[in-house]
Amino acid sequence: PKAPPVAHYNLNNVTITPNPLENRENILLLTPMARFYQEYWDNLLKLSYPHELITLGFILPKTKEGNAATTELQKQIAKTQKSGPEKDRFKSIIILRQDFEPPLQSQDEAERHKIQNQKIRRAAMAKARNSLLFTTLGPSTSWVLWLDADVIETPPTLIQDLARHDKPVIAPNCFQRFYNTEKKAMDERPYDFNNWQDSPTALELAKKMGPDDILLEGYADMATYRALMAYMAKDDGLRQETVPLDGVGGAALLVKADVHRDGAMFPPFSFYHLIETEGFAKMAKRLGWQPFGLPNYKVYHYNE
Ligand code: GDP
Ligand code: MN
Repeated sequence: PKAPPVAHYNLNNVTITPNPLENRENILLLTPMARFYQEYWDNLLKLSYPHELITLGFILPKTKEGNAATTELQKQIAKTQKSGPEKDRFKSIIILRQDFEPPLQSQDEAERHKIQNQKIRRAAMAKARNSLLFTTLGPSTSWVLWLDADVIETPPTLIQDLARHDKPVIAPNCFQRFYNTEKKAMDERPYDFNNWQDSPTALELAKKMGPDDILLEGYADMATYRALMAYMAKDDGLRQETVPLDGVGGAALLVKADVHRDGAMFPPFSFYHLIETEGFAKMAKRLGWQPFGLPNYKVYHYNE
């Protein structure tokens, strides 16, 4: 019998450049998904980066809500990949179901954000992201775009716009639209507080913590005085302005695949007193990859 063929991949031939489109670079778009939002899918379809170069990867919890989301997702996938216009079709799509127990209970925004629920939630999210990443990252992946299932509005040129900065890790600013009752008009407010620059106070707080304790951002009883990218947006600010970051969120995040290949993942435990995406930023930094953010480049989170 003939020996099976061996697949050789020369990673040096997989380019990761500021012009991914010209260089036909493969994008792995990863989404942990607890709920399916039609707006998220419609926004994906509007991405102008060639869909034939985009692989989608999803991980959904094995909860009642996760089952419902999986059904919805599969419906849309069938529509797009089979009967929809050819240009809308993605290169491939992978759906994973979370294999660890217990799954997180479904929580509304207020419940999710309670400080005592955060460590368990963030650890579970970290494991979900790691499972998704390690089962889907391939030898031809150039970039990994993390995009949460409730990020429902981005510029169609998101991938090109983020990649052109040529940064190892880069995060746009995640806002939320809402109806401002005082102004009697639609308005927007910062949503993701995990994109930040460190402060002496936060570093001092961390020093006094036990080995398993984590710092959390956006909680009054834990004032860190970090500089939050959420508050760095300016009305007349340049969209291409970049700032270095020490912590990042996962709502929307473009990562050079080599950063993950080097071993940067989402710690589901206290790593320098940071967890999940914030721990990831620290790990990338320790590997020599500096994360950046775009304070004036906005994407929008669903308003529950
Ligand atoms: P928040 O916006 O920071 O409050 O975080 P979310 O609850 O929106 O979670 C971030 C992303 O992970 C979203 O895309 C969710 O749909 C998804 N998500 C939330 N909980 C789970 C879970 O238990 N398992 C998986 N696989 N995804 C989840
Ligand atoms: Mn969210």
